[in-house]
Amino acid sequence: YYAEVQQSERLRTTGELAAGVAHEIRNPLTVVKGYLQLHRYDQSLTPAVKRSYTLMIDELNSAEHVISDFLTIAKSSKEQMPETVDVKRELKNITDLLLSYGHLHDNDINLQAEEGCYIAANSVEFKQLIINLVKNAIEASETGASIDVRAVKKKGNVEIDIADYGCGMSEEEMKVLGTPFYTLKSQGTGLGLMICYNIVDKYNGNLDFQSENGQGTTVHIRFPLEI
Ligand code: ADP
Ligand code: MG
Repeated sequence: YYAEVQQSERLRTTGELAAGVAHEIRNPLTVVKGYLQLHRYDQSLTPAVKRSYTLMIDELNSAEHVISDFLTIAKSSKEQMPETVDVKRELKNITDLLLSYGHLHDNDINLQAEEGCYIAANSVEFKQLIINLVKNAIEASETGASIDVRAVKKKGNVEIDIADYGCGMSEEEMKVLGTPFYTLKSQGTGLGLMICYNIVDKYNGNLDFQSENGQGTTVHIRFPLEI
C-alpha cells in the first residue's frame, strides 16, 4: 500500500513538472517556427537551404505534437487548483472545440450529458484529460465514424464514457496503457494517457478501458460527485 502511495505521488510530480516544462518550451518553438516559415521562400535561398528549412519546420511540428499532448494553458502547478467543474458545460465546450479537429476526419461527436454533474477538479486539467481521450478516439476511428460522449450521475459519482467504434485493442496492448512513450502511431508521442492517469489520480477519480480488437473502445472515467 505504501509503495502505491509513493508511486502516485511521484507520478503527480512528474505530471506537474511536465506541464510546466511544456509551457516553457512551446513559446520559443513558436517563435523559431514563425521565422523559418517567414524566410523559407526567400529568393536568395539555394535549393539545398530551402530543403533544410522544410526539414527544420517538420521537426518543429513533431516537437509541437509532443507538447500539445501536455497542452496547456496551465502555466504552473499553482494554476492547477481544484475548483467545481460543471461537467456538462465543459464537455460541451470541449466537443465544440474538437469539432474542428474531428472534421479533419469527418467524425461526429455525439454528446449526452446530464445536468448537475459537478466534480472537484481543475477545469484546465479536466479539459486536457477529455481532449487527449477524444483525440485518441478520433485517431482510432475510420473517417466518418461517430464518437459518443456521455455523462451521468450514479451512486455518488459522475461517470463519463467516451466510446469509439474504431480499431480497438488487444488485451496485451491494454496492459501497457499509460506507460510513458508507449505508442503504436507513427506520429504518436505515447504521453497522452500518462497525463490522463495523472489527472484522474490527482482528483480521486478512476480511469479504465474496455476494448475489443476491431470493434472499438470505451473509456470509463469516474469522479466523486461534488454537491
Ligand atoms: P499516442 O496517442 O500519442 O499514441 P497515448 O498515450 O494517447 O499516445 O495512447 C497510447 C496508445 O494507446 C496509442 O498509440 C494506441 O495504440 C492506444 N490507444 C489509446 N486510445 C485508444 C483507442 N481509443 N482505441 C485504440 N487504441 C487506443
Ligand atoms: Mg494520444
